[in-house]
Amino acid sequence: MILFDRIDLLQAYLQQAQTQQSIGFVPTMGALHEGHLALIKQSMRQNTITVCSIFVNQLQFNQAEDFTKYPRSLDQDIALLEKIGCHCLFIPTHSTVFPENYPLKTFDLGNVEHILEGFYRPGHFQGVCQVVKRLLDIVRPTNLYLGMKDFQQCIVIDKMMQLEGFNQFIKLHFCDTVRNEDGLALSSRNKRLSPQAISKALGLINNLKQAKSTILNNPTLVNLDSLQQASINSLINNGFESVDYFTFMNEQFEPIHSITDSFKQIIILVAATIEGVRLIDNIIIKSNEFK
Ligand code: AMP
Repeated sequence: MILFDRIDLLQAYLQQAQTQQSIGFVPTMGALHEGHLALIKQSMRQNTITVCSIFVNQLQFNQAEDFTKYPRSLDQDIALLEKIGCHCLFIPTHSTVFPENYPLKTFDLGNVEHILEGFYRPGHFQGVCQVVKRLLDIVRPTNLYLGMKDFQQCIVIDKMMQLEGFNQFIKLHFCDTVRNEDGLALSSRNKRLSPQAISKALGLINNLKQAKSTILNNPTLVNLDSLQQASINSLINNGFESVDYFTFMNEQFEPIHSITDSFKQIIILVAATIEGVRLIDNIIIKSNEFK
């Protein structure tokens, strides 16, 4: 694996390698786990060159403490990437990505910026878009790989790519959430949890699965507001300190309060805090899953 911390050297390498080759790109904030590695492996299967980036983007943290506490394990990350044969790792500093006088933009993301994660983390999605736009300008990949664990982020980045015209030459791939053997979505933040909290955190996926099966058992009669309340109560009773949301959205990413025949997809999303660590997860119901 070749390590780059300079934009000009990365670009020179990619340019000479680019003739008739495709470049897959997986942006991350490090503290890599099997979820990140699954994206990188998919990129490696589908491209001649895969670039992973590790950059803990201060702009997307609305709380300074969350940024300083974010786990960092570069040596271990490099070893993991070497082991799976990733071609390039880009590890820029803050001033490389955002030099002084870098023209930060405001992206017109619409309502999706302000709901759910956007509501609880003001400025978060603008920060995400700033860095992803910058990294796409640098890497100019053929394919970009994102994880559906951060479902709203996938929608936001898709929107930013349309606004900036990236969608004309970069194909976006949304990859399934990788979970541990019990079902907990892998997350760099899990490293901050005690073993007891890791096991209690399974309440997230268990409540999502329970809500999905309740909906599928009786779609026309299900009361989503009661289901929401029951799921929140269950999380609180099982050790979560707070639940920011447990909510049902349609394929346009609008909140829904009842089920109609016309849904292509329903997504149930949750964000909740345990041992001071805020975790998110989601589950999808596809139209063909309705009987
Ligand atoms: P992060 O380092 O948390 O910014 O994540 C980098 C990329 O990995 C994002 O596209 C995430 O959605 C994705 N990712 C994080 N956790 C998982 C997971 N458990 N399964 C699949 N993708 C993930």
